[in-house]
Amino acid sequence: MEEEKKEEKVKKEWGKEVFDLLSWYQTDVVKKAKVMVVGAGALGNEVLKNLALFGVGNIVIVDFDTIEYSNLTRSVLFREADADKGLYKSEVAARKVKEINPNINVQYVCGRLDADVGLGVYRKMDVVIGCLDSRLARMQLNRLCMRANVPWVEGGIENLTGSVRVYRQGENCYECGLTENAKMNIFMQLSCAGIAHRNEDLGRTPTTPVIASIIGAVQVQEAMKLIHKEEVREGVFSTLTGKWFHYEGMHNKVSVYDSAAFDDDCPSHECWDEVLRIPKLGADTRISDAFLMLKEALTVKDVEINLRNDKFVDIIVSRHNNQRFTPMLPESKIPDYVDSNYDLYTSSRSELNQNAYENIDENFPYKRLTLREIGIPHYDVIEVSTEKGIYHVELAADENRFPFNLNE
Ligand SMILES: [Zn+2]
Repeated sequence: MEEEKKEEKVKKEWGKEVFDLLSWYQTDVVKKAKVMVVGAGALGNEVLKNLALFGVGNIVIVDFDTIEYSNLTRSVLFREADADKGLYKSEVAARKVKEINPNINVQYVCGRLDADVGLGVYRKMDVVIGCLDSRLARMQLNRLCMRANVPWVEGGIENLTGSVRVYRQGENCYECGLTENAKMNIFMQLSCAGIAHRNEDLGRTPTTPVIASIIGAVQVQEAMKLIHKEEVREGVFSTLTGKWFHYEGMHNKVSVYDSAAFDDDCPSHECWDEVLRIPKLGADTRISDAFLMLKEALTVKDVEINLRNDKFVDIIVSRHNNQRFTPMLPESKIPDYVDSNYDLYTSSRSELNQNAYENIDENFPYKRLTLREIGIPHYDVIEVSTEKGIYHVELAADENRFPFNLNE
């Protein structure tokens, strides 16, 4: 009887008598930790598997893509049946992570890291892990993590080569470290993001299951250190913040370079540290009601909501034949809209003009729409310009949409 009881206890306490042997591992800290993994491809799979094995208590998975057969060679969490059904990567990954470790909370978003994940969620995280394959996505994630003041661990893989870097407000910024040429390329991609193809395949990067394992493992090792904030402060271990970890597998070269970059004049790493909460304001609030709530809470007369991540597109006109289309969508969803509309898809992209709103004020003609309908995600932090200055306001009514308590 006693034996049985004991056995049951061992089963319930993940990592007991295993991780306890590690001098630095704090069970409570790891259990309470909140980690977001952005991208559930080859790297994301490895990262998630490792986080689950370590028993990281709260995991959020973000990915907008579905599983394809080509993913199976590098994705430990996906099966052929998932590709047959074209299931979402984030959803399947969440289920498999729970299978590995049923003691942890896992949440997933089938969506984009900026348009579908509110800054409030980023603000609650201890660490964000970027498992992305484009510079544009990395830049967007960097801006959000800088605003939210949360460190993020970047991983990149190609063939048998990979790298890991850690970015952190005040110390190291992804965008500050980019060359002028790389920045130009990203901005070109961004400026024609609306009507042109933001999702365009820029050529596939050849990757291998082994490099994903190696780099995903280093990323999680860094995340585990960053979760142990006290140990970092006390110098129990040092992190890769401001460093560049580079692994070259063809000839087995491992290098760590200094690569901290944090320029004073970079507009992209602003920190939104003063955030006001309006308990009744959420993404499902109509714009007209949001204006009333903001005016009352901020005691101001004029409010303007600045769309910092996404514009709102109401009209697209073809210059070729003056045909009008009314997408009424955030700009990030326009490429899909164009793809699904035959007349638009077949017109030359250079003949299309769009009308987009970047700032929403009293003159905005669609005030009956909700904040979500113009592209603001749930639990976001919105930027509001007023006659008294700029405020950052959390959509606090959305906080309870999360099954695990993000305040703990
Ligand atoms: Zn910067």
